[in-house]
This record gives sequence, structure tokens and C-alpha cells, in this order.
Amino acid sequence: TKKYDYLIVGAGPFGSIFAYEAAKFGKRSLIVEKRPHIGGNMYTHTENGITVHDYGAHIFHTDNKEVWNFVNKFADFNNYQNQVIANYQGELYNLPFNMNTFYEMWGVKTPAEAKAKIEEQKKEAGISGQPRNLEEQAISLIGTDIYRKLIKGYTEKQWGRKATELPAFIIKRLPVRFIFDNNYFNHRYQGIPIGGYTQLFDKWLSSDLIDVKTNADFFEHKDDYIKEFPRIVYTGMIDRFFDYRFGELEYRSLKFESETLDTDNYQGNSVINYTDAKTPYTRVMEWRHFDGLADKGKTIITREYPQNWDRSKEAYYPVNNEKNTEIYKKYAKLAREHKDQFIFGGRLGLYQYFDMDQVINATFNTVRQEFKLSNSYVFDKN
Ligand code: FAD
Repeated sequence: TKKYDYLIVGAGPFGSIFAYEAAKFGKRSLIVEKRPHIGGNMYTHTENGITVHDYGAHIFHTDNKEVWNFVNKFADFNNYQNQVIANYQGELYNLPFNMNTFYEMWGVKTPAEAKAKIEEQKKEAGISGQPRNLEEQAISLIGTDIYRKLIKGYTEKQWGRKATELPAFIIKRLPVRFIFDNNYFNHRYQGIPIGGYTQLFDKWLSSDLIDVKTNADFFEHKDDYIKEFPRIVYTGMIDRFFDYRFGELEYRSLKFESETLDTDNYQGNSVINYTDAKTPYTRVMEWRHFDGLADKGKTIITREYPQNWDRSKEAYYPVNNEKNTEIYKKYAKLAREHKDQFIFGGRLGLYQYFDMDQVINATFNTVRQEFKLSNSYVFDKN
């Protein structure tokens, strides 16, 4: 192990791009990844010509031109734009909330009519002053009908708690548009790599200076690794790294159930959200609609079920409420005290909900620091 400059825990985007950049400076890395494959939650595989995102739909969307140029060096991206349909007990609505939704909900045809309807419902609900919870926040932003049909059930399934027990800040920035526009994300650059995301990781990790061990959990040899490696990049759960000494952080988990069907077109859209409380899943993805490249006669769908997290399950989302933030701060302080040996990175290492573009940008910042690069250093310029 003497020959490695870095041990990297996790072959997701943070760990993989760190290794890729380090190799450019002649540095050797060993990556240990507990799953049987590279790619972290961005991992995709292809069957029947259909690219399946194994950890839920991943749509690249960003305003960060440097990150966009970077990822486009490793794959051709299509021009996919996410347009989600909500199914509430058999009624269909366009998301995110826009003039199409308001027309479908109330028959209103102009922005002025839509705004008047929302105002009327806010008044009827009698909410004044600071919203005390998610329910009040939602109603004061969008009115009772949309809250009841499109927000309440979905949100309660997602968080496993009543909307009246959830903090208002979760939906501070509820996207509401008074134009006819179903494009889910507001970002300038959007798309999905044709053939999936795994090809990016194959390229990032192809250097002779990088070795990857899959099915290798860091915690099986933690003490040895710490003794042997002077520099460790860790993208797993920070509370587990420090043996939960300040207590456990909370996470949300997910379960995915996939099915292959003998049809060309099951639901007519890439994502349909089930917004009632009774349907146990939150959304159904039909993968062929993300790129239109599938073979004829087959389709693959995946149902996504939110789950409470415990130590036997995958941690997908940090729960960034006050309690957890206080706990995380203690771990972050401890991490800083050990910064000569350890770099904590990524969604689980920094206990932060990162989109892909954000985690790549965070990796760039870490690489700049580690290799003392100037701010004008351009990642993968031509
Ligand atoms: P990860 O990708 O989670 O990689 C961490 C890796 O570390 C994993 O492979 C894990 O197995 C490994 N690891 C952890 N602990 C250990 C250990 N002890 N030993 C060895 N290995 C370990 N972002 C978008 O931009 N657009 C989207 O549409 C989008 N959709 C998403 C949908 C879902 C359902 C989820 C969960 C996430 C979505 N994201 C999306 C976010 C995206 O997945 C993350 O930004 C990205 O994967 C974070 O990268 P990371 O390297 O921090 O972590």
C-alpha cells in the first residue's frame, strides 16, 4: 500500500473525480467501494436497449458552465427536459405548478384568474402570520386544492411524517409559475448522457494510477487503512466514521422495484408522481422515455418507495433539520481537527443534499485546495 498517495472511500462522483484529477498530478489512488459497481447513486445499466438508472431518475441540470463543459467531455448528452405528471386518484395534472396545472385544477385561463383563485383559497384557510409548519406554508403559497391533491400525500409519504409536523422551510422555494411551462428545472443546461452515466466513471477511473476494489467496505479494515494511508478521502457517512460519538444523524431511505413489461409504452411519460396518501410508492419511472433508444416491444418501469432509514438500509437523503444540523456541526468540527489525514466529501461525508452538478463543483473546490490550484484553473479544458 506504500505506493498509493490516496485511499478513496466510495466510487461515486466525488471519489471518482477526485481520483481522476489526482492522477493528472501523477498521484496514485486506491478506491474502495462497498457496492459491486462504480458510479455511486449515478450508476446506470442497459438492458433491451433501455438505460436504467438503478438509484432513481438522474437528470443533469445546472447553470454552472464549467461543470457542464466538464461532463460533456466524457459523454454525449441528449436534450432531455423533465416534464412530470401527477396522478391524484386517477386525475392527471402537470407539474411543476404552472398555468397548465391551474387550468386542469380550476379551469382558469389567465395568470390573473389563477392568482385570484389562490388568494381566495388562502383567505378561506385563514392563515395569517408566519406559517408554523409545512401545511400552512404550502397553503399560503398555493392554496388548499393544490396542497390537498398534489402536495400533502406525496410529502407525507416522502418524509414519513404528517405535513403539520414537518417544518415550513422544506418548501420555502416551492416553484410556482404563472406561465404555461412544464419544464421541471429552471436551469440553462439540462440532459442525460446517451447510454447512461456509468461511461463517465469508466473514463474517470481508467488511469493506470487508479485501482478500484468493489465489494469492499471501508469499515472492514478501518484501523489498518488509517494506519497505512497518510491521506484518505472519505465519502461515506460521517457519523459512522466517528463511531456515532455525538449520536446518530437521520437519513431517509428508498426502495426501488423494477419490472420488465412486453409493451412499447406503459405510461406515456418518463415520470409519474402518485400524490395520494394511499398508493405506497411516490413515483413510477419508465426508462425508455428518457432517451427514446429502447428496442421495440419491451419497457422497464421502476416504482420508488420512500422508507424510514435504519442501519440496515441505504442512506439516500440527509434530513437537514435543526437537531441534525447541530449534531453534524460537531462531526464537522472533529473532521477539521483531523484534516491533515482526512478529506470528507460528497453527500454523506458533508451531510448535505447535493445535486450532481453541486457535488462535482464541490469536488473541484477540494481538488483546487489539495493541489494548490489557482481559481482560474480550468477543469478539462480542450
Ligand atoms: P454517492 O453517489 O452516494 O457515492 C458514494 C459512494 O460511496 C457510494 O457508491 C457508496 O456505496 C460508497 N460508500 C459509502 N460508504 C462506504 C464504505 N463504508 N465503504 C466503501 N464505500 C462506501 N442529482 C441530480 O443532479 N439530478 C437528479 O435528478 C438526481 N436525482 C436523484 C434521485 C435520487 C433518488 C437520489 C438518491 C439522488 C439524486 N440525485 C440527483 C443526487 C445524486 O445522486 C448525488 O448528487 C450524487 O450521487 C452524490 O455523489 P457522492 O459522490 O457524494 O455520493
